[in-house]
Amino acid sequence: MTHITDAAHLAESASSQAIFDYPVQSFINGETYASTGGTYLNIIDPGTGQVIGELADSGAGDVDAAVAAARAAFKDGRWSEVDPEERERILFRLADLVERDAEILSEIEARDTGKPLAEARLDIAEAASVLRYFAGWCTKASGTVVPAPREYFATTTREPLGVCAAITPWNYPLPILTYKVGPALAFGNTVVAKPSELASASSVLLAHLAYEAGVPAGVFNVVTGGRTAGEALSASTDVDKIAFTGSTATGKAILRAAAETLTPATVELGGKSAQVIFEDADLEAAVEGVAAGIWTNAGQICIAGSRVLVQESIKEKFLKALTERTGKLSLGHSMDPGADIGPVISEGQLKKIKSFLTEAQQAGASVSTSSTTVPDHGFFLAPTIVSGIPAGHPLASQEVFGPVLAIDTFTDEQDAVEKANSTEYGLAAGLWTKDVSRVHRITRKLEAGTVWANTYGVFHPTLPFGGMKASGFGRELGPQAVEHYTHSKTSVLHLAP
Ligand code: NAD
Repeated sequence: MTHITDAAHLAESASSQAIFDYPVQSFINGETYASTGGTYLNIIDPGTGQVIGELADSGAGDVDAAVAAARAAFKDGRWSEVDPEERERILFRLADLVERDAEILSEIEARDTGKPLAEARLDIAEAASVLRYFAGWCTKASGTVVPAPREYFATTTREPLGVCAAITPWNYPLPILTYKVGPALAFGNTVVAKPSELASASSVLLAHLAYEAGVPAGVFNVVTGGRTAGEALSASTDVDKIAFTGSTATGKAILRAAAETLTPATVELGGKSAQVIFEDADLEAAVEGVAAGIWTNAGQICIAGSRVLVQESIKEKFLKALTERTGKLSLGHSMDPGADIGPVISEGQLKKIKSFLTEAQQAGASVSTSSTTVPDHGFFLAPTIVSGIPAGHPLASQEVFGPVLAIDTFTDEQDAVEKANSTEYGLAAGLWTKDVSRVHRITRKLEAGTVWANTYGVFHPTLPFGGMKASGFGRELGPQAVEHYTHSKTSVLHLAP
């Protein structure tokens, strides 16, 4: 029996496909909310190219309604004044409900994004784990007693910020939403989330589940829609914090809007992360790590290891092994249990990737495409390895966001570091070497928010995550969330003599 709660139609739904028989709509003040404009966007299954449903395209008025609901809920203290232990209990219950409905949420996520169901299941498990981690924080955000002059008794306490806006991308919809909603709710804030128009259903359902878990109406609202809704939310004068994950271009637009209203913002943006492979590396492990780092989610990951820097002496050996490994992967629809790699998200994205490749080829690069069968329908691209890219070509420095790997070589440590740092981004990097001292030496010099050594892409709620340079600023997950979702209040009491 499927438990996803909503209006009756969702409660009765036995399959993820049935969820899309009804429009995906906003959830405001504890209820499904019909957008005032009455316009809808198509939901397209990237694995077939077919329309599978529709999504309410909210306008500024709908965003205002969600912000007003979140403001009212913050103002009357229905959540911020709940005992931390009770908030903790409710958030643990939410994590349990996500696990209860994990299978249907996974199917929804897979159909919406095109990723293989097995990958979507990991995403939903991660979302539950993140919620559970932040549930624990409800009772752990302590203040301090300050050594002020002796005639005063001074303390600092952690106070919620107020209404938090969460604007999220389509590639990992539910985990990324929990990175924001988890700490926001743990510390007593209220939330207005605006998920990507390309994959919103799981975010809306999370708000329904939160309500079922006992999060009061108005505390966690979701507005569906595209850029118009995102712009209205980031320009709102009644929002106290913006947490954004998405492209660098959108991040800059959001920061411009936030500057106008002096709203604090954290931005988690794009990347062009390098995997650096030294000649002493465990080659088999490095090949696995590189393949996972770029072919997972069809390369549509912010931390995709989309550049490989391999030491010159092992280039041929490494490329042969990686090509063989890649050749074993098959493309397929999200619901095909044999699919290792899904499609890219949209027709427009497929065209963009292909033009990157054509231009690189015309500029003299060698483009090698895996011989796997490419399905006739949907937005599929076979995994592609590109080498010999001329210096300065965009394929070597810009985010492609698809199953495309750029290969380059290096001579020594210094050359490796210079090349790894040679893009505007600074999100992540991978090192493959048996020399532990080298790992430490290089990690210090890499311009990246996270460096993985002899592994890649390890995420855990305890590990702070975020970028440098054009990959953004602020950290999600880990204890740093306290800084980003509370403010420090100083109170000073004069002690009578
Ligand atoms: P996007 O920037 O196109 O959209 C992200 C969100 O912003 C969506 O909800 C969208 O509707 C909204 N939006 C679009 N224009 C807006 C505007 N002008 N004002 C306000 N909101 C607006 O990104 P995407 O295509 O959904 O996601 C892919 C990008 O996200 C990639 O660049 C990827 O690297 C990045 N990403 C980063 C991280 C990270 O943690 N650093 C994680 C996942 C994805």
